[in-house]
Amino acid sequence: MPASTKTLRTWSRGTSWRPQQVLRPTSQEAVVAAIQAARARGCSLRVLGGGHSFSALAATDGITLSLDGLQGLLSADPETGLVTLRGGTRLWAIAELLAPYGLALSVMGDIDRQSIAGAIQTGTHGTGAAFTGFAGMVRGLRLVLADGSVVDTSPSHDPDLFEAARLGLGSIAVVLEVTVQCVPAYRLELVERTEALEPTAASFLADSSRADHHEFFWFPRADRATVRTMRRLPPHAPRHRPARAVEVLQQDVLGNGAWELLCRGAALVPPLSRPLAEIASHLFAGPRVIDDSAAVFVAPRRVRFHESEWALPADRFEEAFAALRARLEAEDVRVTFPLEIRRAAADGVWLSTAHDRDTVYIAAHRHHAEEAGPYLLLVQRTLAAFGARPHWGKLHWLGARELTELYPRFEDFRAVRAAADPDGLLMSSYLRHLLG
Ligand SMILES: Cc1cc2nc3c(=O)[nH]c(=O)nc-3n(C[C@H](O)[C@H](O)[C@H](O)COP(=O)(O)OP(=O)(O)OC[C@H]3O[C@@H](n4cnc5c(N)ncnc54)[C@H](O)[C@@H]3O)c2cc1C
Repeated sequence: MPASTKTLRTWSRGTSWRPQQVLRPTSQEAVVAAIQAARARGCSLRVLGGGHSFSALAATDGITLSLDGLQGLLSADPETGLVTLRGGTRLWAIAELLAPYGLALSVMGDIDRQSIAGAIQTGTHGTGAAFTGFAGMVRGLRLVLADGSVVDTSPSHDPDLFEAARLGLGSIAVVLEVTVQCVPAYRLELVERTEALEPTAASFLADSSRADHHEFFWFPRADRATVRTMRRLPPHAPRHRPARAVEVLQQDVLGNGAWELLCRGAALVPPLSRPLAEIASHLFAGPRVIDDSAAVFVAPRRVRFHESEWALPADRFEEAFAALRARLEAEDVRVTFPLEIRRAAADGVWLSTAHDRDTVYIAAHRHHAEEAGPYLLLVQRTLAAFGARPHWGKLHWLGARELTELYPRFEDFRAVRAAADPDGLLMSSYLRHLLG
C-alpha cells in the first residue's frame, strides 16, 4: 500500500497526522472491508468525523476512516421522537432532515460542524440544567466491531457494550448508525446581556436552574460577563431576527473578522490583550433573537482557537471559579478569549463528563496564534482540586492514572474495550495514554 502524502489536521490546526491511507466507505460492507484491510495490514484504524476535536483523538499512522459518505436520516418516529441517523451525518444537516417530522434535537452546543457519531464519542454537550450531552440522548447504536462483525446494541441488548460504545472515543467500534431521542420541534428566544461578573457568578446555579438554557462568557480579569439566556417557545412563535446589517456587524465583523485581527495584534503585543478583553466584554452581547432551535443554539466560529474544558460538580462551581479568578489575577494572565461557563444534567453514560453528577463546565480558549499550553495547564491545575473532569475532545494533560480516579466506571469501560478489540486495532498512542 503506497504511503499517503496527505497530512490531515484538526480544525484548530493544533494536531496533524499523516495516515497510510484515507478510506471513505459509502456502505456498511465497505466499512467492514476497511476493518479487514487494517487487520490484514496490521495497522490501526481510527474514524474521523468532522475533525473538530482539539485533542489527538482521531489521529493515526494507519488508516483514517471518514464516514462522510455515510450520512443521512434512516428513520424518524414523530410519536416516540426516536430518530436513527447514519454515523457520519453532520449536525448542521439534522434540523432540515427532522423538520418534516416536527422533531428536533433537544439541545445543541456552540457549533454544528461535527458529525453525530463524533459528537457522541467525545461527550459533546450544550448548556441547560435539565439537558444531558449528546451521548445521554442515544438510545441505540449499530456498530462495526474490530473483528468486522456488525452488531446492534441498546440499553436492553448488550447494555455494557452500549454504555461503553455510546461515548467510546472511537475505541470500541465504528459507529455506523445512531438512534437518538429527539423532541417536538421548538423555537428559542435568545437574550444576551452584559452584567457585572460577581453577581453573575454568584447566581449562576440558581439562574441556570430556572432558565431553559443559560451560560456566561467572561474575559479573564474583566469585571463584566456576557450572559446568554435561551427560553424554549412553541414552534410557531413569531420569528424575530435583527436587521441583516446588524447581524453581519455582530457575527461576521465583530464576532469573526475584526476579532481575528485584534487577536493577532494582541498575540504580537501581549499588553494589548487586557484593553482588548475590556472592550470585547462590552461588545460581545448581541441582539435578541427568536428562531428555530438549531438556528439559535449555534453560531459560526471562524477565528480558530485552542480549547480545554473542565466538568465540575455543580455544587463546587462557585469556589472553583473563585479560585480560578484569583489564580489568573495572581499570575497576571493575558488572554483575548473568554472563559465559557455552561451547565448540564447528570447522566449515566460511563465516560460522560457529567456521569452521575449535576455539572458546570468551565471552558478556556486561546487564540490559535498564541501558545496555549501554559495557560490551559494553569487552568487544569487550578481546577484539579475540585474534581474536574476533562472534555474528551479538548486539550488536557491527564492520563489513565488520573482519569481512573475521576470516572467511577473507568475500569468497566476498559474491560469492555479489551473484550471488543483485544488486538487494539482501533487504538492509537494517544488512546493508550488515556486508557492505559
Ligand atoms: C469551534 C468548536 C466548537 C465546539 N463547541 C463545542 C460545544 O459547544 N460543546 C462541546 O461539548 N464540544 C464542542 N466542541 C468539541 C467537539 O464537539 C468535539 O470534539 C466533537 O467530538 C467533534 O466531533 P467531530 O465529528 O468533529 O469528531 P472528530 O473530532 O473527527 O472525532 C472525535 C472522536 O470521535 C471518533 N469518531 C468520529 N466518528 C466516529 C464513528 N463514526 N465511529 C466511531 N468513532 C467515531 C473519532 O475517532 C474521535 O475519537 C467544539 C469544537 C470546536 C472546534
